[in-house]
Amino acid sequence: MPGPGPGGPSPADRDEQIRQVDRLLPQTQCTQCGYHGCKPYAEAIVDQQAPINRCPPGGAAGIVLLAALTGRAVMALDASCGVEAPRKIARIVADLCIGCTHCIRACPVDAIAGGPKRLHAIIPELCTGCALCLPPCPVDCIEMIEPPAALADWTRQDADAARGRLNRRDARLARLARSERSRLADQGATARTSGPPAGSSATFTSVSTPTATSTTSAQPSAVGLSPQTGAERKRVMIEAAVARARSRLNPPT
Ligand code: SF4
Ligand code: SF4
Ligand code: SF4
Repeated sequence: MPGPGPGGPSPADRDEQIRQVDRLLPQTQCTQCGYHGCKPYAEAIVDQQAPINRCPPGGAAGIVLLAALTGRAVMALDASCGVEAPRKIARIVADLCIGCTHCIRACPVDAIAGGPKRLHAIIPELCTGCALCLPPCPVDCIEMIEPPAALADWTRQDADAARGRLNRRDARLARLARSERSRLADQGATARTSGPPAGSSATFTSVSTPTATSTTSAQPSAVGLSPQTGAERKRVMIEAAVARARSRLNPPT
C-alpha cells in the first residue's frame, strides 16, 4: 500500500484501503494503539503514519493479517501499547451504582443499559472489554472480569457488529448535536425578536428577597443566591448520591 501524496492512492482508493485495514482490527475502540479508535488507527496505517504492531487486542495474529494486507514485514507487538491478553468484559457492582449515566456516555458501542438514577448493567455479549467506562464512574463500581466460556472469544462477527453499533451511535450523537444547535439558534432568534419583557431591566431579572423570618426551604436561585452552573449542580448531585450509596453499604452503627 503506497502512502498519500504524489504516486499515492486516489481518495477513493485510500478510503477502500482504510476500510480493508479497519476490517482486520478488533473494533474494541480501546485506544491502546494511541489513536482515538480502530478507524483512526487504520487511517494512520494507510497513510504510512503508524506501524502495524500497535494493537494489543488484535495481538500477533492481527499483525500477521495486517502485514499480509499491507505488504509490510511482520513484527512483534509494540509493548508500549500493552500486552496481548485473554478477553475480559465489564461488570457493574449493583449495590454501588448511583445511576449517574457517565458509563453509558463513555461506552463507544452501546453495551450498557440503564437510565438516570437507575441501576445500570453491562450487556455481556456486546461488551468489547475496552474498559473506557471505568474512569468516568464516580463510585468505582465497574470491574473487568473473565467472561463466561461461551463469550471467551471475540470473533470477526463480533467485531463487525461492534463497528455497526459504533457507527449507529456516532450518527445518533451527530443528529442530537445538530438538533441542539438548531434549538439554541431558534432560542437566540426568539430572544432577539421579542426583546426584554415589559417592566424588567435588559440585563437583570428581579428575584424576591428572602426575609429573616422565612421558613420555606427555597432553592438558592429563588432566594437571590448565585445560581449554580450545570457542572456544579451535577457535581453536588453526584456527591450526594455517592454519600447515599456509601451509607447504604456502611450504615452508621
Ligand atoms: S482495538 Fe486495536 S486498533 Fe482498535 S482502538 Fe484498540 S488498539 Fe486501537
Ligand atoms: S461496557 Fe465498558 S468495557 Fe464494555 S464496551 Fe462499553 S465501555 Fe467498553
Ligand atoms: S458510571 Fe458507575 S455509578 Fe454511574 S451509572 Fe455507570 S456504573 Fe452506575
